[in-house]
Amino acid sequence: MNNTSRFFHTVCGLSAICLLLLVSSPLALLAFADFNSSASVIGLPLEQAPSQSTAINTSPNQNVDAYYINENPDNPPTAAKPVYDVFTVEERQARGLVLEVPKVSQYYGEKVVYLTFDDGPDPENTPVILDILKSNSIKATFFVVGNEAEKYPDILRRIYQEGHAIGNHSYNHVYRDLYQSANSYIAQLRHTDDVIKKAIGVRPRISRAPGGSAGSFTKEYWGALNKLGYIEVGWNISSGDASSAKANRILNNIVSQMENKNLWSHAIVLMHDGRGHAETVKALTDIIKYYKERKFEFRVVNFETPAPW
Ligand SMILES: [Zn+2]
Repeated sequence: MNNTSRFFHTVCGLSAICLLLLVSSPLALLAFADFNSSASVIGLPLEQAPSQSTAINTSPNQNVDAYYINENPDNPPTAAKPVYDVFTVEERQARGLVLEVPKVSQYYGEKVVYLTFDDGPDPENTPVILDILKSNSIKATFFVVGNEAEKYPDILRRIYQEGHAIGNHSYNHVYRDLYQSANSYIAQLRHTDDVIKKAIGVRPRISRAPGGSAGSFTKEYWGALNKLGYIEVGWNISSGDASSAKANRILNNIVSQMENKNLWSHAIVLMHDGRGHAETVKALTDIIKYYKERKFEFRVVNFETPAPW
C-alpha cells in the first residue's frame, strides 16, 4: 500500500466514525433523557408534552364566563355570571375560610328566565342542547348527577367552558339512599363536588334536591345546607317532561304556566337533559323562541337568583 492510498484509507475510516457518532448522539440523548426533556429534544415545547393525567385544571380562566369564590378581594361578584368555588367544603374548613354564602341582593328584572336542565350530563341529549343554546347565544344552568358527570367529564367540561352554570344534583339520585338523613344527603353533595372539581378544577355552590326539597327536607337538611354554604335551587315552571310527554305538550305546559305574570321577574324553568329526554331536546328551540319573542332576559342561576316562590 503506498502513502496516498494509506492516507485515503485513514480519511475514509475517520469519516465513517464521525458519521456514526453524528447519527447516534441524538438517539443516545433520547435514551438517557427523562420524558419532559425528550419532548424538548424532539422539538416540542414543554407545555405540549402529553400529560399522564387526564384531568385538566381550568381554574380560574379568563376565557370562562364565570365568577369564582377564592377569597381574593380583586375578584368581586360579577352580575349575571355562574358562580364556582375554587375550594371544596373540606378545603375551606382546613383553611378556616367562611363557608356561608356571601350576602348578595336578589335580581328581579321585568322579564327574566332561567332555563335549567337536570339529571345529565347525557351523551345524546346534552351536546345537542349545548349546540342549540350556542346558536341562540344564550346561557343555561345544568344540575348534574355525580355518577353521570364521572362517566362524561368531557361533556361536563364543555358545559363549563361554554359559560353555563353547573349545579350539584346529588351523586346517585336514588331517593332511598339520599334521603336517609341530612348527613347522607350532604355526603352525596360533597362526593359530587369532588367529581366536578376533578373534571373542571372548581365546584358549584348551587344545588337542587332530586324530586325537589318539599316532602324530603327537614329542618336538619336546611340547617346543614346553610351552614356548609350550599344554595338549594327549586323551580316555579315545570315543563312536565319527566313523563312520556311529547315536545308539543312540553312547550304548552310551559306556556300555560307563564300566564302567571308574577313569575315573569324570575321564571325558573325545570327541564331534563338526562337519558330518555329526547322530546325536551325537540321542544327546546320553540321554548327559546317563546321567551325571545317576548323579550325575556336569559340568565344563569347564581347567588342573585331569587327563591322561586
Ligand atoms: Zn333529577
